[in-house]
Amino acid sequence: MPNISRRSFLKRSIASGVVGGLVLSGAPKMLGAQAKTTGQVGTIIDLTKCDGCPGREMPACVEACRTKNKEKFPKVEGEIQDYWPQKKHEDWSQKQQVINRLTPYNWTFVQAVQVEHEGKLHELHIQRRCMHCDNPPCAHLCPFSAQEKTPEGPVLINPNICFGGAKCRDVCPWQIPQRQAGVGLYTKVAPKYVGGGVMYKCDLCYDLVKTGGVPACVAACPKEAIVFGPKEEMRIEARRRAEGINGYVYGEKENGGTSTFYVSPVPFAKIDRALKEQQSMPGMKPAVENYLETPNGIAKGLLVAPVAGIFAAGYAAVKTMKGED
Ligand code: SF4
Ligand code: SF4
Ligand code: SF4
Repeated sequence: MPNISRRSFLKRSIASGVVGGLVLSGAPKMLGAQAKTTGQVGTIIDLTKCDGCPGREMPACVEACRTKNKEKFPKVEGEIQDYWPQKKHEDWSQKQQVINRLTPYNWTFVQAVQVEHEGKLHELHIQRRCMHCDNPPCAHLCPFSAQEKTPEGPVLINPNICFGGAKCRDVCPWQIPQRQAGVGLYTKVAPKYVGGGVMYKCDLCYDLVKTGGVPACVAACPKEAIVFGPKEEMRIEARRRAEGINGYVYGEKENGGTSTFYVSPVPFAKIDRALKEQQSMPGMKPAVENYLETPNGIAKGLLVAPVAGIFAAGYAAVKTMKGED
């Protein structure tokens, strides 16, 4: 057999259908095509492969995300008022260069953490972003129906109807969505409340995924630490990788299940503890409960549904009148 690299072997295998829908970042086009035929998509984030991109100004995944989404980032015009009746607002427009946390201008970042496990010190780098949950409380409890879970799995915020109330952030176990004041509907309908703004987060590059591509961060990762493909194949592959290193998977059960599967050589409870100690958010608490499955969440869901339905119907009617799909 000629001496071919693992990457080119995978590319050839994918092209010939040998590995089903599993696709690494080396063959983005094929991946999306495979994923489209099998319904929902998912990702693996393999902590044994990510090295945090040392020597680069910013990790390749972060840079790719910022480049891909820059047109969607908030554009603040005019003076931002406080979020009445609160005497404050959240403004990241002057801090767009921040890359060590999630912001409305930075939808993914990489946490570096050291974890001791079984006598060995592990240096881990963890790409963080929305997990694209199976039963997302952020979407189901949005009073304005500004979020949706798409049939392919990505959870999206519609910036045209988000009022920036931040309910989605409150009910997300990882507080993923981030608010920018001074943009969105308030600027048109009620400038006094413009301090509310709009929530922003990773959309799993839905435009690319829907048309057979792969998320920008997946394609950019030089270590193939992020894998994208049909969700159930990602789940199986994540379990296989974890078993191979006597390791652990995160995201399969957390918050009732997600489309993102982290693979780690150390328990996530230890990672969560280490993140807490260095005050790095979000944490990685294992077996985190889905708010929608708690008595409080069920009751709130029942209250929110009719209101959200009215807003959704209103928005759909406006779109129809404008001749949009
Ligand atoms: S996931 Fe890939 S691109 Fe992102 S920091 Fe890790 S190695 Fe770099
Ligand atoms: S991670 Fe948070 S923001 Fe993303 S889908 Fe789940 S609940 Fe929503
Ligand atoms: S999937 Fe797309 S939006 Fe999400 S972090 Fe990656 S590049 Fe950014």
